[in-house]
Amino acid sequence: MIKIISFVIFLLFVGQVFGQQVKCGFDAGKNIRERHYVDSLIFEGTNRILLNRDIIVIPVVFHVVWHETDENIEDEIIVSQLNTINADFSGANNDIEKVPAEFSTTVGRAEIKFCLASTDPFGNPTSGTTRTHTDKNEIGLTKDIYYSSSGGYDAWDPDKYLNIWIANTGSFLSGISSYPGEPIKEESGIIINPKFAGINKSKKYGLGRVLTHELGHFLGLKHLWGDDNNCDTDDDIEDTPLQRGPYINCPSYPQSGCSESEMFMNFMDYVDDPCMYFFTKGQVQRMLTTIMLFRQSLINGNTQCDIKNNVGVKLVFYPNPSSDVFMADIAHRSDILMQYEVFNISGFRIKYGTEIVNRRFNLDLSDFPSGVYFVRIESEVYRLVKM
Ligand SMILES: [Zn+2]
Repeated sequence: MIKIISFVIFLLFVGQVFGQQVKCGFDAGKNIRERHYVDSLIFEGTNRILLNRDIIVIPVVFHVVWHETDENIEDEIIVSQLNTINADFSGANNDIEKVPAEFSTTVGRAEIKFCLASTDPFGNPTSGTTRTHTDKNEIGLTKDIYYSSSGGYDAWDPDKYLNIWIANTGSFLSGISSYPGEPIKEESGIIINPKFAGINKSKKYGLGRVLTHELGHFLGLKHLWGDDNNCDTDDDIEDTPLQRGPYINCPSYPQSGCSESEMFMNFMDYVDDPCMYFFTKGQVQRMLTTIMLFRQSLINGNTQCDIKNNVGVKLVFYPNPSSDVFMADIAHRSDILMQYEVFNISGFRIKYGTEIVNRRFNLDLSDFPSGVYFVRIESEVYRLVKM
């Protein structure tokens, strides 16, 4: 009970400081001592883990726990939420071009894909969404959200699923995430306010990036200003400049403070959704390290997802491997406009374009050296091996 009360008090405090709905309650709910231990493990591990790897797939379940009818958000909103995080975590978001030139070399592509769970913990088919009515208003503001017996909804095995609760978090808080090494397994995951889920009507947080930001925390990222509001405390990421505290709203560029030019347009700041565009390479490396150290069981659980349940175009590339041109058969029988992007193993985009295709798609990689490539079509990713 004491824990629940202190959680609420912390969150109210956050709201008072900003006087408006803030992006995240991470600083408010922090337990610095626990985090420091986790941070030291991540910090030690960071340089030992290779960037070269396959796309990482994390199965997700959304628990919609609603009190008022409009909190019971529609499936389309959830799909749009999934699309936002998949774009943001692979650098496929349309606004990534807005990253100022001075930071363009730091842009990282996490190549992490989130899929809706298609099998529930009992082995039954699922849409990857649960829906529960609760008698409690603003249940997302308390730990009751984590427990069915308290009017919330019990997590699905957090070792196999990333649990995301969509529940009213009151008028100050938009979302909050647990941090790696969380002491209570049942409370591992993220809570976001239904008002800010997916593509929505909010002017501030209307693009679904409250969840992008919270996923950053879930995967071990801190805010750009670190754990304290001064110019000495870092976020343990080398390619993000030091910063004293959050930027809010949509600042004009550039802004100086602790650093000559600060990176307020990073996903781990507090700016409005349309004003944040990217993670850095250093942040990506830290997220990958966190996954290897703390979240590995999640990525081993890909069988929780059935790719057919996910939005996007389905292709089969062949022959694979091939020496130059790959062919693909596409499930659509009529013409569709298809955007594609090809990445090399280091995550650099080497080719992209738009084509109108009808059942057959050719991809010419004859100009590129042998190796492993990834092709992204809409939200799906395919692995190609060039001989
Ligand atoms: Zn945050």
